[in-house]
Amino acid sequence: MAATLTPAPGSAETGARIMAWADDLAVHTEQPGLLTRTYLTGAHHGAAAQLAAWMREAGMTVRRDAAGNVIGRYEGATPGAPALLTGSHFDTVRDAGRYDGNLGVILPIACVAGWHRQGRRFPFAIEVVGFAEEEGVRFKATLLGSRAIAGTFDTNVLDNVDEAGKTMREAMREAGFDPAGLPAAAHPRAQVLAFVEVHIEQGPVLLNEGLPLGVVTAISGATRFIVELEGLAGHAGTVPMDMRRDAAMAGAEIGLFIERRCGGLPGLVGTVGQFDVPNGATNVVPGRAVFSIDIRAGEDAVRRAAVDDVLAEIERVCARRNVRAQIRKTHEAASVPCAPWLQAQWADAIARQGLPVRHLPSGAGHDAMAISAIADVAMLFVRCGNGGISHHPTETMTAADAASAAAVFSDFVEHFAPQR
Ligand SMILES: [Zn+2]
Repeated sequence: MAATLTPAPGSAETGARIMAWADDLAVHTEQPGLLTRTYLTGAHHGAAAQLAAWMREAGMTVRRDAAGNVIGRYEGATPGAPALLTGSHFDTVRDAGRYDGNLGVILPIACVAGWHRQGRRFPFAIEVVGFAEEEGVRFKATLLGSRAIAGTFDTNVLDNVDEAGKTMREAMREAGFDPAGLPAAAHPRAQVLAFVEVHIEQGPVLLNEGLPLGVVTAISGATRFIVELEGLAGHAGTVPMDMRRDAAMAGAEIGLFIERRCGGLPGLVGTVGQFDVPNGATNVVPGRAVFSIDIRAGEDAVRRAAVDDVLAEIERVCARRNVRAQIRKTHEAASVPCAPWLQAQWADAIARQGLPVRHLPSGAGHDAMAISAIADVAMLFVRCGNGGISHHPTETMTAADAASAAAVFSDFVEHFAPQR
């Protein structure tokens, strides 16, 4: 075989380039010393310009839409052909890691650069999207970029304000984006063959099993509640144990039930992430407790069954302890299944690269959720180091895993067979 000047997609060089680009992109931050890059800030513009430059170098034409998405298009053999869409978000949480979202934008650019150098075209176009907003930090509304592309952008959120009191509408205009252009940002279904997203796992499953990559089965649905329990406050020294109406202990019992009920079933998780004893004191039997419940599962039936059991248990515990409960549902979202035909093509690509195939659900939300309104979606997870920590500066991954992910992504694209 003749030697080639182009590094193989899965080569160490490609992995090293992806890691270097992640470092370069992390320079674009609002807070020196930390990575914080929220929607339409100076740092956000800087990152967008950098992504656009890399896309152009990789042979793509680049455009920005009204939501601020950065869209690089690598034409197929026939110009104007429908596209395989890929990408992820380039906004971050506050004090973020550098791979969440960003990896899913720079990795495909690195792969397209390789095909561009080889002069290789496919029967379809490839569009790499840097979604402008996913995390919801600045305006308390999430998935703005992907919703714009899916045509499901809720224009009510244009009136949301940031901490400084500026509306999203004003921020968009100042940045040179016209909210009136949002409907035109929607991609016509017929032009999108599928959407695939590469993303760091943000959890410890692949790490613990010693696997670099995983095929996502579904993005978990979630149900969230705020529960307020009201018992009776009393003196910690004088109220006998059997006469108490302790709201905090009722809450603790419910919390332990949630942990038990959601344990042991793959893909089901339940969390009490907030637990307050308002006006609590060392020497007072708690009269009130307020806590959150977050239950997620890849399968909606599994989540609903767990939610029903938890609600029944709250009733039982409260009746036995003579405590009143007020339960407010604050969020409910169905799971988004990844298309079986795309999962199969990911699995084949992983196997062709000599790697074990592991399927797992995503407990976190992703841009793919929004894009599922216009196209079949699927995701490739990349092992997250450091115990699986994400949304934190110590989020990490290896150059070797970046190289493996690039090899699998390239293989996936090179063998991609659209379902129509
Ligand atoms: Zn993300």
